[in-house]
Amino acid sequence: MENIAVIGAGTMGNGIAHVFAQHGYQVRLIDISEASLERGIQTITKNLDRMVSKTIISEAVKTTTLQNISSFTDLKSGVAGVDLVVEAATENLKVKLKLFEDLDAYCEDETILATNTSSISITQIGAATKRPEKVIGMHFMNPVPIMKLVEIIRGYSTSDLVTETIMELSRSLGKTPTEVNDYPGFVANRILMPMINEAIETLYNGVAGVSEIDTVMKLGMAHPMGPLQLADFIGLDVCLSILNVMYDGFKTPKYAPCPLLVNMVMAGKLGVKSGEGFYDYSNSRKAEKVAVQFS
Ligand code: NAD
Repeated sequence: MENIAVIGAGTMGNGIAHVFAQHGYQVRLIDISEASLERGIQTITKNLDRMVSKTIISEAVKTTTLQNISSFTDLKSGVAGVDLVVEAATENLKVKLKLFEDLDAYCEDETILATNTSSISITQIGAATKRPEKVIGMHFMNPVPIMKLVEIIRGYSTSDLVTETIMELSRSLGKTPTEVNDYPGFVANRILMPMINEAIETLYNGVAGVSEIDTVMKLGMAHPMGPLQLADFIGLDVCLSILNVMYDGFKTPKYAPCPLLVNMVMAGKLGVKSGEGFYDYSNSRKAEKVAVQFS
């Protein structure tokens, strides 16, 4: 594998492009938005600069990494001749199904099509193509250059050969791939989201306040951040949508989103990205966050 197309230059896409390029792959970063592409390249440059200043990489590695990335707004020319596509576009079923239909038409027969989706069925995405055996989940964690895990999700029809190829490729990026099957939430979110939802339910039931709940989980369970702060970082809309995928997929109240989470998303309190969630980020730096009072 040499040529990789990364679709979507947002939070995840620019991180994925960065990691592939730093490990010597030729990366085509593709986004429908010119502004997103520019922001993506700026973020990669800033992250590389930070790595140089911490002497994690040399100035020469930074230069080569940036040289290994080219940008495209046109999907067809962007994916021409690539060995692998890693799709990291907006989490929306319609967007992904259309993209995979187009990718199937534009890519060579042997190209593997991977998706970084957090919650959409790999089997359903694969079924939008005529090559479901070559469609696989490659679920990187945020921030991609730092987090070691890649959850590798086998769709119902994904072949052994494609799975092994992607596991090996992930290792070549210095990551630890872990193979899981395609059921709602996969493994990471199936375990994480009920914990976050239970933390919100605990707050909703008035058992404890925001900081108390996060402190119990941080100091008591050695979690690097509490579940409510983590929910703010992930985005409360994203948490709600993943819980809904699991609720719909398993048809059990076990995954029913807490009404407080639903209300907060409807009120536009989405966490860090909107300036307020379980903490108030409006006037303070993230490190000085203030817990919102819930009664
Ligand atoms: P984002 O909103 O930051 O970026 C999405 C990008 O996709 C945008 O730049 C948008 O312009 C672009 N885009 C939309 N439609 C497109 C199309 N048809 N063709 C090309 N580009 C298109 O989103 P994100 O947080 O980077 O998430 C991307 C994917 O990664 C989603 O599937 C998400 O579930 C998954 N994911 C996100 C996280 C996270 O922490 N944010 C973690 C793991 C997985």
